[in-house]
Amino acid sequence: MGIKTVQIPESYFGEGYQLTSLDKVLGLARANSIWPLPFATSCCGIEFMATMGTNYDLSRFGMERLSFSPRQADLLMVMGTIAKKMGPILKQVYTQMAEPKWVIAVGACASSGGIFDTYSVLQGIDKVIPVDVYVPGCPPRPEQIIDGVMKIQELVKNESPLRRRNSPEYQHLLEKYQIG
Ligand code: SF4
Repeated sequence: MGIKTVQIPESYFGEGYQLTSLDKVLGLARANSIWPLPFATSCCGIEFMATMGTNYDLSRFGMERLSFSPRQADLLMVMGTIAKKMGPILKQVYTQMAEPKWVIAVGACASSGGIFDTYSVLQGIDKVIPVDVYVPGCPPRPEQIIDGVMKIQELVKNESPLRRRNSPEYQHLLEKYQIG
């Protein structure tokens, strides 16, 4: 058997070009320019402050622009104990955010009520809104928060931003939470 030679394609030389889909380009752009809304109610919020500081520097991920206005945010970061009375307010903030949007429950309290297994505390924010990523810990270290953010980025990159709102799974989820 002789050695086969392969012709180098013309596009290999010069500037070249690449083909991809619109979904992938949008996903990449969105994943690297997320605008978080920090909904911080107690100690986990302090860890988030450390995450934004120079040592951990969340702006490396294109996330330095925090939004305290729901309509200009696409990542809701819930950090701290959420009282049941606060549940409807959290839900209102979520519904005011534009699609597509994602949610991280940061720490034990936001994820499950944490140590506060009591009548006044919401036993996890997923009782009132859908959650994409849960970050464990009481409090989680900034590295864990960053890990949660990177998981969100993977999600943003790989799901179709154009179809998320209309997908049957997402519609079902919103119906479940009575969000129209
Ligand atoms: S999980 Fe722990 S550190 Fe975070 S808000 Fe609850 S009690 Fe505070």
